[in-house]
Amino acid sequence: MRYTGYMDLSTPLKNISRITPAYAKILDRIGLFTIEDLLLYFPFRYDDFSKIVPVSSDYLGENITIEGQVIKIKVARIFKRRMTIIEASIETANKTTLKAVWFNQKFILSTIQEGARVRLAGKLEIKGRTFQMTSPAFERAGREATNTGRLVPVYSETKGLTSKWLRWQIKTLLPIVKNISEIVPREISQKFNLFSLARSIQEIHFPSSKENLVRAQKYFAFQEMFLVQLKALQTKNVWDKKKAISLSLDKKNLQEFIQNLPFKLTNAQKKTLREILSDLKKNKPMNRLLNGDVGSGKTIVAAAGSLPALWQNSQVALMAPTEVLARQHFESLAEIFKNQDIKIALLTNSYKLTHQPEGHYRQNGNDNRENLLKKIKTGKIDLIIGTHALIQKDVSFKNLALVIIDEQHRFGVSQRAFLQQETMRASDGNIQTIPHLLTMTATPIPRSLAIAFFGSLDLSVLDEMPKNRKTIITKIVPPAAREKAYTFIRKEIQKGHQAFIILPLVEDSKALSELKSAKTEHERLSKEIFPELKLGILHGRLKSTEKEKVMQKFKDKKTQILVSTSVVEVGIDIPNASVMLIEDAERFGLSQLHQFRGRVGRGVHQSYCFLFSGSNSEKSEERLLALEKTNDGFEIAQKDLEIRGPGHFFGTIQSGLPDIAMENITNLKLIKLAREEAENILKKDTNLKKYPEIKKALEKFQESVHLE
Ligand code: ADP
Ligand code: MG
Repeated sequence: MRYTGYMDLSTPLKNISRITPAYAKILDRIGLFTIEDLLLYFPFRYDDFSKIVPVSSDYLGENITIEGQVIKIKVARIFKRRMTIIEASIETANKTTLKAVWFNQKFILSTIQEGARVRLAGKLEIKGRTFQMTSPAFERAGREATNTGRLVPVYSETKGLTSKWLRWQIKTLLPIVKNISEIVPREISQKFNLFSLARSIQEIHFPSSKENLVRAQKYFAFQEMFLVQLKALQTKNVWDKKKAISLSLDKKNLQEFIQNLPFKLTNAQKKTLREILSDLKKNKPMNRLLNGDVGSGKTIVAAAGSLPALWQNSQVALMAPTEVLARQHFESLAEIFKNQDIKIALLTNSYKLTHQPEGHYRQNGNDNRENLLKKIKTGKIDLIIGTHALIQKDVSFKNLALVIIDEQHRFGVSQRAFLQQETMRASDGNIQTIPHLLTMTATPIPRSLAIAFFGSLDLSVLDEMPKNRKTIITKIVPPAAREKAYTFIRKEIQKGHQAFIILPLVEDSKALSELKSAKTEHERLSKEIFPELKLGILHGRLKSTEKEKVMQKFKDKKTQILVSTSVVEVGIDIPNASVMLIEDAERFGLSQLHQFRGRVGRGVHQSYCFLFSGSNSEKSEERLLALEKTNDGFEIAQKDLEIRGPGHFFGTIQSGLPDIAMENITNLKLIKLAREEAENILKKDTNLKKYPEIKKALEKFQESVHLE
């Protein structure tokens, strides 16, 4: 039933008479069901049409709003191109005439009629002697400024849903927002000179000024950070009450293990290992993030950190985000532990390998999943390495004491929590103790961001690279030097080395036609540039078994060049690769580029990274220069954070936070204040009994935010 009567925030959008069933369906598809949902659908940018001025050459090239009377309209049809062109002449205040042109927008004839007074907003141009606007925004002059004459909100549009329609609906429903319950207690928002939630929502849609828009954005940044911190502190509180098995080891045995490694540990490795070992000794579960650059040697720290568990016959699980990476961990840990009596298994969805203590691999075709699971359950395997296959229901452990998660940000919070708790429950029914948890990053995360998003974790930072590393020579290559770069690659391959070529897309895309795609480029390179070489291709649309094959071939040197999309970024180790060429480099975040670069220079050869840029804007040039200048991942990460904000920093993962909040989160001061207020509230009221609105918001929040 449709009704036009009383409406509140929870009224379903489909019940509103102005919203036709067709529109309701579109809204439904993008997850907007109630009035509240729609009011919380924020613009992602604004057109600044707030300058209402007479038409004059002073404003050429600027976005302005003009007011005037329609004196003539011409509708022309171009049948060949199936196009309708509407041309209107508008007489403005100073008797200057402006020509407005629209294409294929016949519906505007209902507003733009001869004699009508209208407001038009857009970029002022001049054609011959006539001022002109092409496809300007418009509305009747008598109406309250919604689409012109102000900061105009622009929403992300899907098929059939325009910003203009959204503006109209939201504007009409906006008065209902005064009934919304405040989430941040008013005494806190007032303390920081922030608007109320209701006012912030109004200002975010229809800002009364730029200053007020910023103030509203600050409100949301604060609210999100406040919730993030509350969540983190709650998690920490819960965690702190849990028990774990205390794990310790014989110092001498550890010394011996370390002395037998083929290299000396860096000071940072020693320090972080000490931090981990001291956590493990407690009968409280460790919850630590090992934050370090590509190649800083996290694996060996994790391996040595596993020894207290492994030496006392408890199990350790290591979870990696992809099969390739899990397999690589399996191989390197088998090597690291080759003199230890430790049984290692790899559990992924397609590979079942076991490793014998003598140091031999055996791809055990007969050992099916079931057998492997039995061995894990009965404790015949000590160290289990795998993908998320590790957290499937049928996997149970005998006595899991430590869980290590590599590149943790690729797993959702729930996946991580599940591994921690369910595995334990399934193992020996002992839910009083839970395993210790060590998470690792793939690239460094700036400290401010780590505190913001991983506030419930203790931090260990590997801020030092092993000494023997050769720095990778990085160069931004101008288009004219493309051939030179290819010649260089050819020479490197003649020396027996290999190369990566990275592209932003899998397939050619109409929308992004200026970008190169992996498929097309692979074909071009194979046929025209390197016909004498073997080129592999890797992208996210391949099945994981296919990906694995492509990687293996490259690892086995059966292909010399690997053309790939960003899927290659995850910790792949090809010591023989010495060149990394990246196309359309400006499309990637600095941290991601740094990650790609980290794929080379892992062997003894001098390695190179070539950056091609599809854009010649100064800003992207400056951004890329940072990579030429430094190899320090923490420095690059900080720069990336400053330039692009944390939303981009995390690359592909969905943070669930609105961009607006994301942009402000870098603000360390804000994070600190939010954390202090969150601490205060929990101190007074641990279970948030007096704050039902916060509680509700946290529940919602949990569903959408995938960062810890
Ligand atoms: P990441 O932190 O990216 O996971 P890895 O653990 O894969 O780095 O280490 C990268 C490489 O550096 C490996 O080949 C590893 O054996 C080597 N390595 C680790 N620590 C040291 C060290 N202290 N000195 C020399 N090489 C090291
Ligand atoms: Mg690693």
